[in-house]
Amino acid sequence: MARTQIQAARDGEITDEMYRIADRENREPEFVREQVASGKAVIPANRHHDALDPMIIGRKFATKVNANIGNSETTSDLETELEKLHTAVHYGADTVMDLGTGSDLDRIRETHIEHSPVPIGTVPLYEAVKQAGSPEELTTDLLLEVIEKQAEQGVDYMTIHAGILAEHLPLTESRKTGIVSRGGSIMASWMEAHGEQNPLYQVYDEICAIFATHDVTFSLGDSLRPGSIADACDEAQYAELDVLGELTRRGWDHGVQVMVEGPGHVPMHRVAENVERQQAVCDGAPFYVLGPLVTDIAPGYDHITSAIGAAIAAQAGAAMLCYVTPKEHLGLPDEEDVRDGLAAYRIAAHAGDVANERPGAQDWDDALSEARYTFDWREQFRLALDPDRARSFHDQTLPGDNYKEARFCSMCGVEFCSMRIDQDARDDGEMKQLRQETDLDASPAAEVNRPPVGTHESDGLSSIGERHEPGTEQASDD
Ligand code: SF4
Repeated sequence: MARTQIQAARDGEITDEMYRIADRENREPEFVREQVASGKAVIPANRHHDALDPMIIGRKFATKVNANIGNSETTSDLETELEKLHTAVHYGADTVMDLGTGSDLDRIRETHIEHSPVPIGTVPLYEAVKQAGSPEELTTDLLLEVIEKQAEQGVDYMTIHAGILAEHLPLTESRKTGIVSRGGSIMASWMEAHGEQNPLYQVYDEICAIFATHDVTFSLGDSLRPGSIADACDEAQYAELDVLGELTRRGWDHGVQVMVEGPGHVPMHRVAENVERQQAVCDGAPFYVLGPLVTDIAPGYDHITSAIGAAIAAQAGAAMLCYVTPKEHLGLPDEEDVRDGLAAYRIAAHAGDVANERPGAQDWDDALSEARYTFDWREQFRLALDPDRARSFHDQTLPGDNYKEARFCSMCGVEFCSMRIDQDARDDGEMKQLRQETDLDASPAAEVNRPPVGTHESDGLSSIGERHEPGTEQASDD
């Protein structure tokens, strides 16, 4: 049987995927192998996913961003679902979770996998419940059947809600918002109806065997994540985390790659605590967090409330951030929501990478600052995280081509443009002399480097479209 990435890494082999990742991340191939072998990083790469451009999730690498897509009972056509995948990849998602619960799930999933250059994740429990008719009618046979089918289809990672146990349920009774994870509420409902232990926990070793066969990566679900800051870091959340630590080690024993999901809603001063605790309990397995939202008061702006928590989590060591859109808690996101959510999360991920001094991360900032200070508007747009947004905001007030050379914008106007005033002063001979004498201008000009590539490279993409990566538009001129 072919080995999984972690088995190959433990055997000392550097796989093709590891070489590709080393190239994307600016790292030595041996470093990639070591991280995978130790379980501190995962390469979600089902061996049946032919269109995949391999990537890595681990705290020593660039922080990754996931986007959720999927149909519902009311919206279910193949073209729309493919368009959602295209949008998510175009705006920079590093992985995409297909959380569809509508009709035609198999065909949509297969088409996603066929076309996606990024790993595809799923929650097989949703399809199993749909087939069973209700949570209470789920059986372990059906769960295993659905998991195996999705593994054979090429799903790269699956959320498995095996950590919530019957003994945890009483711990949620005093919560303000109960159990908010969909998978968690389904498993709790099953355990209450049957008076038995979580079936996913009971057949965990069998799931491991399926994952090892196809090299599917675990994303161990946090069924008891807090749904409000009032419930953050409570006994229920941390009791489940202890089980996730046990399941992490059992997955590794089977030669399966594991990452662990995290909250949710957590106030700012407790975000780092969550990351540090998960890293300790789960022996450094990558932490994949949803936000967290740092306050509950801003429906309509939860891409912001959660990106604040995500940035803190990234700095503290979270490896992947699951995006939240402005529609969180309110409705199904549309394309503009996906764009806003991904922008917020790519900012959070990049801010974390800069804070953690990831190789090359700040080069992007420095190049944009240089373009800004020299009024190179076209270069600013090209380097911007969202070039179309930057260009359109600028052109709303100064649309003419001549303003692409202007030494001001409409914010302060020509007379009060501080950067122009500063440059003029610098150009003034007397000021130059004064600066030299007082050593005010001692710091050297920043070296202009290319923005970092690796996380969002445009090469290797399939026919569905290209992710935007600053620096790719003029690649042929470089
Ligand atoms: S006008 Fe103000 S905002 Fe615009 S470039 Fe000058 S300093 Fe910056």
